[in-house]
Amino acid sequence: MKLLLAAILTLALLVIGFYIYKTRKEEKVLARTVGQTLFFGWVIVLFNLISLVTNFERVCLFAYSMYFVASDWMLYYLLRFSIGYIGVDFRRYVKRWIMLPVLAVDSLLVLLNNFNRFMYDLRPVELFGGEAYWELTISPFFFGHYAINVLLVVFSLIALFYGTFTAPVFYRKKYLTIAAMTTALMIINVFTVTSAVDISVIGYVVEAIGIYYCAFVYTPQKLLQKMLFQVTKDMTVAVFVLDTDGKRLYSNTYADALLNPETAPRNTGDETLEEWCQARYLNEEEAFIEEQFFYRGDEEVILKIQLQRMVDDKNLLQGGYFVIQDQTEEINNLKKEQYLATHDSLTGLYNKEYFCEVAKRYIERYPETEFYVICTDIKEFKIINDSFGTQIGDQILRNAARMLKEELKGAVVTGRIGSDVFAILMPKGNYNELFFRNQKSKDFLHGIDKAFSFPVVSHIGIYEVTERDLPVSVMCDRARMAINTIKEDYHKRIAYYDEKLRAEIVREQELIKDFDKALEHGQIKMFLQPQTTVDGSLLGAEALVRWCHPEKGWISPGEFIPVFERNGLISDIDRFVWEQACKQLKAWKEMGRDDVYISVNISPRDFYFLNVFHTFIDLVEKYDIEPKNLKLEITETAIVLDFNRQVELITRLRKNGFVVEMDDFGSGYSSLNMLKDIHVDILKIDMAFLKKAKDEDRSKKILQMVIGLSNQLGMPVITEGVESEEQVKFLSEIGCDMFQGYYFAKPMSVEEFEERYFLLDK
Ligand code: C2E
Ligand code: CA
Ligand code: CA
Repeated sequence: MKLLLAAILTLALLVIGFYIYKTRKEEKVLARTVGQTLFFGWVIVLFNLISLVTNFERVCLFAYSMYFVASDWMLYYLLRFSIGYIGVDFRRYVKRWIMLPVLAVDSLLVLLNNFNRFMYDLRPVELFGGEAYWELTISPFFFGHYAINVLLVVFSLIALFYGTFTAPVFYRKKYLTIAAMTTALMIINVFTVTSAVDISVIGYVVEAIGIYYCAFVYTPQKLLQKMLFQVTKDMTVAVFVLDTDGKRLYSNTYADALLNPETAPRNTGDETLEEWCQARYLNEEEAFIEEQFFYRGDEEVILKIQLQRMVDDKNLLQGGYFVIQDQTEEINNLKKEQYLATHDSLTGLYNKEYFCEVAKRYIERYPETEFYVICTDIKEFKIINDSFGTQIGDQILRNAARMLKEELKGAVVTGRIGSDVFAILMPKGNYNELFFRNQKSKDFLHGIDKAFSFPVVSHIGIYEVTERDLPVSVMCDRARMAINTIKEDYHKRIAYYDEKLRAEIVREQELIKDFDKALEHGQIKMFLQPQTTVDGSLLGAEALVRWCHPEKGWISPGEFIPVFERNGLISDIDRFVWEQACKQLKAWKEMGRDDVYISVNISPRDFYFLNVFHTFIDLVEKYDIEPKNLKLEITETAIVLDFNRQVELITRLRKNGFVVEMDDFGSGYSSLNMLKDIHVDILKIDMAFLKKAKDEDRSKKILQMVIGLSNQLGMPVITEGVESEEQVKFLSEIGCDMFQGYYFAKPMSVEEFEERYFLLDK
C-alpha cells in the first residue's frame, strides 16, 4: 500500500511539475502567481511523499514541518491568485505588511517544532496489515497554524464568491469552479491532515490543474459569442453577415437602420443598398473595399463599403460579411473645409492663395495661350466703408463679384485678392475692354438704397503675362501697380503694366529708398513762390518743396509727391515744410516783417497720418507766430474724400485764427454747391483750368462767374499759374486781386526770396 501511495504521490509531483513548466511559458498577468501557487503545492506533495516513505522519525518530523510551511505559502499565493483572478488589485485589499510577518512567524514556529515538538509530535502506527506509518498527534498550538490556513482559504473564498456575484454571468463558472475545489480541498484537509495517510494531497493536484485550466485555457464559447455580439451591436458602422445564398443572417443595430427598405439609400438604378450588396456579393469573387454614391431622395449619401468572404479550412465559402461606413458627413465637412480654405466667404470667389494656385495651373497647362492678369480696384473704397458702413461696402463688393462672375465673359479664373481688389485670369483673345468701360456706378449700387449717391467706379490694371514663370501674386502686384498710376486720375479707368511703368516703378522705389537720408542730409528744401497784388507788391508766399538729390539733381515735387502720397511718406515731408515755414515766419517776425505770410500745402493723406489740427496749434505756439500768417492750402479733393470731418476741421482751424484756402479749385471735383457748405477764407484757382478747356471763352465766363460769386460770399480769390500780362489784366478786371505765377516770379530759395523782396524794399 505504501508503495502504491508513494507511486501516486510521485505521479502527482510529475503532473504538478508539468503544469509549473507550462505556466512559465504563459504570458498572462496571473502567470507568476499561478506558478508560485503551483510551486508550493508541489513542495507540499514532495514532503508528504518523504514523510510517507521515511522510517526515520526525525526526517518525517522535518518533512511535516516543511509541508506545513509550504501550505502557509501555497494558501497565501492562492489568495493572491483569487483576488487577482477576479480582477481586483491585490495590494489594495491585502495589507502585506501584516500578512507576511504573520506567515513568517508561523513558518518559523512550525520549523521550531523540529526541536521542541510543542505543536505536534509523531507516533508510529501500523496500518494495512503491519505497514509502519507515522501518525500526527497535535497539541492546541497546532490550531494557531491551522487557523491561519483556514483564514487564508476563507479570504480566498470570499474573493471568489465576491467575484462570482459581481462579475458578468459567464465568468461565474470559472470562479465557482475554483471556489468549489478550494472548499473541497479544505474539507478533506480538515479530516485527513492528522491521519497517517494524507489523501488531501491528491486534492492539491486537482486544485493545481483546475487553477491552471481556469486561468489560461477556459474561455466559454458563449462568452465569446456574446462579446462579439456586443462589440458589433453598438458599432457606428453597419455590419451584416450573409449566408452563401446572400440572405442576411445577422445585422447589427446600425445595419438594421441603414438597410431598412423604407429609408435605405438607393443608387441611380433605384436598387436599395441591400440589393446592391447582395448583387455584388453573389457576383463578385474577391473581397473589395470601395466608396459608393447612393441617394436618399435628393440627398447624396457617400458610403465606404467593404465585403469580406469567409471560407473554411477546405476553402469552401461559408458566407460573407459587409462593413459599411457612412462617410457623407465626414466628406461633406471636408469639402466644406476645403471650400472655406479656398474661397472668400463674402463673394464666393476664390481667395488670393487659391486664385494664384489655379491661375498658375492654367498658365502652365496652356503654354500657347497668351494671358492677361487683370486686377480691379474700387475707387475710394475705404471711404465708402468708413463713411457709409461696412454693410453698404459689402453689398458693393458682392455686386462687383457678381458682375465678374455672371457678366464678364471669357475669364478662366476669378478671385478676390484684397479687400476691394478682384483678380481675373483671362486669355488675351477673350479680353473686351468695353465690359469694364461700361460698368456703371449703378451696377455697383444694385440693391442699395437710392439715397446713397456716392459715385462708385473701379480701376482696372492689366498685366500681360509675358514672364510666365513669375508667381501669379507678382503678376497681380504688377496689375495693381498699373492701377496705382491712375488712381489720382479722374478720367482714366484702365491702365496697362508695361516696361515704361516698370522703369517708373523702379525709379519710384529708388526715390523711396533715398528718401530716408534726404531729410537727414538736408536735401529737402522749402522754396517760396511769391503771391502778389496786381502791381507785383508782395503779399506772401506759397511754400513748395524741392528735393536736391546728390545724383539726380533737382527733383520736382510733381515727380516724388504722388509717390509719397501713395505710401504715406508725404506727411513726413509736409511736417518738415510746415516747420520750415514756421521757422521762417518767426525769423521774419524778428526782422519786423510779420506782414508777410506763408501758405503751406496739406496733402489729403496728412489727415490719415497726422493730427493736423494739433500739429499746427503746436507749431504756432512753438515758434510764437500769428496763426493768420500761416495759411493752409487744402485741396478740394481732400475735402470731398471725408466731407464732414474736413468741414469740422476747417471750422476749428479758422476759429483758432488760421487762414484756410481751398487749393486747386476748379481742377477736380469742383462743385459750386460745396462753396455753400464749406466756409474757407480764400479760394485758389489754378489757371491750368483755363488751359485745359476746349472753349476758352466759355471757361472764362465760368471763371468770371466763380470769382464774382465768391467775392459776393466774401471770399477773396487768388489765381495761381498766372503766366501772362493778358491773364493778369483779365483776372483783375473780373475781380481777382491776388496772383501767383511765373509772370510775377517762379518758386525760389528762401535766400533769393529775402534778397529780392526784403532787401529791395529797404
Ligand atoms: P500746387 O500746390 O498747385 O502748387 C503750384 C504749382 O504750380 C507749383 O508746382 C508751382 O511751381 C507751379 N507754378 C507756379 N506758377 C506757375 C506758372 O505760372 N505756370 C506753371 N505752369 N506752373 C506754375 P510745384 O512746385 O512743382 O508743385 C507741384 C505740386 O506739388 C503742388 O501743386 C502741390 O500739389 C505739390 N506740392 C508742392 N510742395 C508741396 C508740399 O510741401 N506739400 C504737399 N503736400 N504738396 C506739395
Ligand atoms: Ca498749393
Ligand atoms: Ca494749387
